[in-house]
Amino acid sequence: MTATTQRPADSMLIAPKKVGFISLGCPKALVDSERILTQLRAEGYEVAPSYEDAHAVIVNTCGFITPAVEESLSAIGEALEATGRVIVTGCLGERPEKILERHPKVAAITGSEAVDDVMEHVRRLLPIETDAFTGLLPVAAPGMRPDVAVPSREDTRHGDVFAPSVRLTPRHYAYVKIAEGCNHTCSFCIIPKLRGLQVSRDAGAVLYEAFRLVAGGTKELMVISQDTSAYGVDVRHRESEFQGEQVRAHLTDLAVKLGEMGAWVRMHYVYPYPHVDRIVELMAQGKILPYLDIPLQHASPKILRSMRRPGAGKQLETIRRWRAICPELVIRSTFIVGFPGETETEFQELLTFLEDARLDRVGAFPYSDVDEADANKLEGAVPQAVKEARLARFMEVAQRISAEKLAEKVGRVMDVIIDEFNDDEDDAPGTRLIGRTKGDAPGIDGQVYLFAGELAGQLKIGDIVKARIEDSDEYDLYGEVLERPEWKPNVPQLGHFGKH
Ligand code: SF4
Repeated sequence: MTATTQRPADSMLIAPKKVGFISLGCPKALVDSERILTQLRAEGYEVAPSYEDAHAVIVNTCGFITPAVEESLSAIGEALEATGRVIVTGCLGERPEKILERHPKVAAITGSEAVDDVMEHVRRLLPIETDAFTGLLPVAAPGMRPDVAVPSREDTRHGDVFAPSVRLTPRHYAYVKIAEGCNHTCSFCIIPKLRGLQVSRDAGAVLYEAFRLVAGGTKELMVISQDTSAYGVDVRHRESEFQGEQVRAHLTDLAVKLGEMGAWVRMHYVYPYPHVDRIVELMAQGKILPYLDIPLQHASPKILRSMRRPGAGKQLETIRRWRAICPELVIRSTFIVGFPGETETEFQELLTFLEDARLDRVGAFPYSDVDEADANKLEGAVPQAVKEARLARFMEVAQRISAEKLAEKVGRVMDVIIDEFNDDEDDAPGTRLIGRTKGDAPGIDGQVYLFAGELAGQLKIGDIVKARIEDSDEYDLYGEVLERPEWKPNVPQLGHFGKH
């Protein structure tokens, strides 16, 4: 007699457990969300699209500044009201007393990067019943099933056991986190208290993750961490294997290898350390995007000292040197106005720096106290009205410079990556598109509004096109698509062999 395995009748199948997910905060927190979602899916949970469908909700919180804490607390309240079962994770989770004070009924709280802790709470709240049929299915990898060891917190911090396979970004771009935590002590920031000291991933782990992404169709890799320039310092730049070669955990080596994959590589949260010159050289050679996101925060030496900023000093000189190496370089930065001790003199220094440095993309925030930050104790608090007035003056200058720099691009032909369609009801489908140049990161920089021209209806999200820039304003560019060159990364394309 031959043994047969029969699929159980539908009525015997066990309904999937559905988990809602709210992801707040910066791209670094987004990557943590992707890791949790990857593990949820691996263990057989479904992600609920709405509260009505969710058996429980995970809220990945942000605890950086007071408005972010408030947003996190109100998201937790909303999820609790809707489902009654909420697991809180993320930066604010490192301060459980704050959450419990407002929401004593949350089911569990974990800190940031705690995939295994979150999963433990999910399994306790929503156990998945196994049956004889699914129980026989092979286990594909560690952490795929509740009865198999889940990666430890140290492992998941490195991301070396599993980089996320569920992505919250569109397929054509992805954030790649190279380190977690920070070794600095900026006086306005509590990230090191929340996320701990820097822990860098091995270069091999980062590169294999990037390789898989590019093979799967990702065209733009955004390198993130708290202090990207310091990558590998904590592990003494140890070597690890990538495709049979040993690669150092060092930003320069990593950038070279990432650049070789042929995708756009964008650097975020870079501080102006001396070795960044070498990164800018790679930009000049076209290996990685000529784009640096450097949060300078201020320009007055006195304020930078009391902010305890890393790599501060000679900022203008450094920027000029970088521009001499790579004239195409686009620099994005953020600033805080109204920091304690900032008088009109220091604020003027900041405005003068802005005029001289002519940064391409600038964001600014009025200073606000963050619970437990050292800056709260500084003297010379700036009244709210003065902060707001300075912010407006600062943004006026930044906006004018941005408009002038964008106007210089009119008439040029630029590479643009398509992010979305922008048709209105009178257009034939695929006539209008929105994209970004190499100098624009998604979500924070400007956009390019395009007419598809003769390629109307033929372009897809994620295509990289050549476009003629015809107009500009303070933040955005306008133009027309000329052609769509073939996309040729140096990584085999999964499912796209020999096709565009
Ligand atoms: S560099 Fe400064 S602001 Fe950035 S995470 Fe570290 S301590 Fe915070």
